[in-house]
Amino acid sequence: MQPLELTVNDLYEFKACPLRFKFMRLDKQPVKMTENDGLREAVKSTISYFYFNLAQGKLVGMEDLKQKFGSIWYERNKIYNIMYDDKVKQRKRELEAISMLASFHRQQKFHPDKVVAVNLDFRIPFGDDLYISGQIPLIRESPRGLEIAHFKVGNHKPDEFWTKTDMGLTIEAIAFESIFKQQVPSICLHYLKAGTTVYTKRTRKDYQRLYKTIRMIKKTMEEGWYYPRESYHCDKCPAKQPCMEWT
Ligand code: SF4
Repeated sequence: MQPLELTVNDLYEFKACPLRFKFMRLDKQPVKMTENDGLREAVKSTISYFYFNLAQGKLVGMEDLKQKFGSIWYERNKIYNIMYDDKVKQRKRELEAISMLASFHRQQKFHPDKVVAVNLDFRIPFGDDLYISGQIPLIRESPRGLEIAHFKVGNHKPDEFWTKTDMGLTIEAIAFESIFKQQVPSICLHYLKAGTTVYTKRTRKDYQRLYKTIRMIKKTMEEGWYYPRESYHCDKCPAKQPCMEWT
C-alpha cells in the first residue's frame, strides 16, 4: 500500500474543517482562495523574494518589493486564484500590505539578516505509512543560535497557547533537527501588523503531542470521517455552496 502523503497545509486545512479539506484537497473542487489567505500568501511570497536575493548578497529596495507584491496581488502572474470582495477593498488591502512590508524593509535595510536557508523543503516520515512535507520559510543566524523565522500577516495578537501548540512550528522543529542534527535553538514569530516579535521553542514533549495528533488525524481520514465543522470560518469558506448540499 502507498504511504499517505500530506502537507503541513493539509493538516491545518483538515483541522479547520474536515469537510472543506475533502472538497478542496481530495475532490479538488475549483474553489478560489479567500482574500485573507491571498494577502497572507502574497506577503509571504514577497518576503521570500527579498530573502532569496539577500542570500545572494543583494538587498532588494522597497520599490522592488512593492512591485513584486503588486504583481502577485493583482494576479499578473496568475499564481493564486484569489476571491476579492471588491476593487476598493482590494486596494485597501494592498495599502495594508505595503505598510507591513515597509516596516519589515526598514528594519532589514539597517540590520539585514544573516540568511542560512530560505523556503527549505522537508519531507518527514511518521511511521512507515505517512509522510508530511512542507517548507521552513527562513533559517537565519541570530544571537540565540540558528533560528527559524516566520512573518505573520493576520490580525491575531500573539497568544501563548497558539504559539506553544502550533503544529506547523513543531513539524518544522522536527525537520530542523533531522537536517541540522540539533534541536532548534529558537523560533521567532514577527507579527507584522502589530509590530511585535515573539520567541518560542520546542521540546520532546511538544513532539509527543504532535505525534499523537497526527495519528488521530490519520485514523479519522482512514475512516473517511470528513464532517462539516461549522464556525465563524464558514463566512469566508470557498466551499460554502457544496457544503450546504452535503448530507
Ligand atoms: S462552510 Fe463551514 S462547515 Fe462547510 S465546508 Fe466550509 S468551513 Fe466547513
